[in-house]
Amino acid sequence: MKLQDLKVIVTGAGRGMGAYFAKELAAAGAKVAAGDVDEAGLAELPAGIARRRLDVSSEADCVDFTRWASAELGGLNALVNNAGIIRDGLLVKRDRESGKLTTLPMDDWNQVLAVNLTGATVMTRELCKTMVEANTRPGVVVNISSVSRHGNRGQSNYVAAKAALAANTVTWAREFAAYGIRVGAIAPGMIETPMTRGMHQKARDALVAAVPVGRIGVPEDIWLAVKFAIECDYFNGRCVDVDGGLVM
Ligand code: NAP
Repeated sequence: MKLQDLKVIVTGAGRGMGAYFAKELAAAGAKVAAGDVDEAGLAELPAGIARRRLDVSSEADCVDFTRWASAELGGLNALVNNAGIIRDGLLVKRDRESGKLTTLPMDDWNQVLAVNLTGATVMTRELCKTMVEANTRPGVVVNISSVSRHGNRGQSNYVAAKAALAANTVTWAREFAAYGIRVGAIAPGMIETPMTRGMHQKARDALVAAVPVGRIGVPEDIWLAVKFAIECDYFNGRCVDVDGGLVM
């Protein structure tokens, strides 16, 4: 699909990679509806991008947002499922000094699944329902997974969500093929955004040092992959790692 033909929803578009994608899409001529819980971030997007508060962990919000976006853009044919959060922690941890045991709080498990997996699932359902109802084709959904999908210490919740999102990329590519909708996923490695800026410095430095290309990724690296997933009509049902070789 051509970028200028898109009527596209970008979730988590208030900052980080989502804001970058929304700006690039709009600059290329796409009609963009940006959603985020961060309304201050949304307010900073360039004029011309439609925006509204969206909490993807709320089913009602996903339904209302998609309806609004369709009315605002004159229909829909694309979605970038980018909203995501981390709540890292070991499943069981013994403090070295006090010997005290802590466990991963269920709230941290539930929140990460609710945003990264359930949110993306409900948004995909609503986008595809809107397209099928209106008989719109072709269409494309791009899921933002993570290389953590392969397994990562201290990220049980995030790994579960991002691995399931990559697996359901196949499910949805199969389910929606009959309606002319492709579904692909990009799994970024370590990318410079507010999410990674919040990481423990030592852990961050160690991860960056392990990247074979010798640097942290930037949103443009992932945008190039998202652009490919949108533009290449033969890309379908796959999740591509874009991580400078971190997990190869
Ligand atoms: P980010 O800087 O934290 O931006 C994520 C945006 O999503 C924020 O504006 C955040 O709002 C918003 N958000 C959080 N919960 C939401 C919800 N329930 N509904 C709607 N929006 C919500 O993250 P990023 O690094 O750009 O990450 C973008 C995507 O890439 C995420 O799916 C992330 O998991 C994935 N990813 C990132 C990396 C990386 O190294 N950065 C690596 C692999 C995968 P608040 O600021 O208010 O929370």
